[in-house]
Amino acid sequence: METGHRMDNGIRNNTMLKNEMHLTFDAISVNEAFARIAVAAFVTPLNPTIEEISDIKTAVSEAVTNAIIHGYDAEYESENPSEEMPQIYMRCLIEEDVLLVEVKDTGKGIENIEQAMEPLFTTKPDMDRSGMGFAFMEAFMDDLEVISVPGMGTTVQMKKKLGTTPWIRQED
Ligand code: ATP
Ligand code: MG
Repeated sequence: METGHRMDNGIRNNTMLKNEMHLTFDAISVNEAFARIAVAAFVTPLNPTIEEISDIKTAVSEAVTNAIIHGYDAEYESENPSEEMPQIYMRCLIEEDVLLVEVKDTGKGIENIEQAMEPLFTTKPDMDRSGMGFAFMEAFMDDLEVISVPGMGTTVQMKKKLGTTPWIRQED
């Protein structure tokens, strides 16, 4: 299948396409797949290419995984014992041809954001983490912002402009 091809169903030509959705779900690993599929479905009206969908799914997956395994880790659980399942809050916004995805947890937060965002930096090397999550989010999206307060939680905001792939891919 040619991934660069895009059908024009007219929605992109709509001068003010605006759409927003909010999802709240349990911070458990089965919901990583749910979250990335939900975002992929939400961007359908923008006629994304297969490559764009794949980039978005990877970035969402990394952000949600981080919230589950770092935000709400064993340390957080021991300090915040509760019967309630920790929650992840996701907000998606389409404005014209730009997708914004926000993934928020109210977990333990990040002490040093700059260091956390460095490629290969991880606080859980023992758990087989490679420290590449933020680097992937940065690579696959156009803009990445991380807001975090220790003890309060973390919000990851990612933006991607769709439709920058050429209409017809040049064959060489
Ligand atoms: P990988 O994503 O490659 O499996 P990783 O999760 O350790 O490994 P990153 O996703 O780049 O790597 O995150 C870097 C570090 O930032 C993490 O090791 C963790 O310390 C911190 N971090 C990331 N997201 C959160 C979060 N939601 N809450 C608390 N800490 C976080
Ligand atoms: Mg990660």
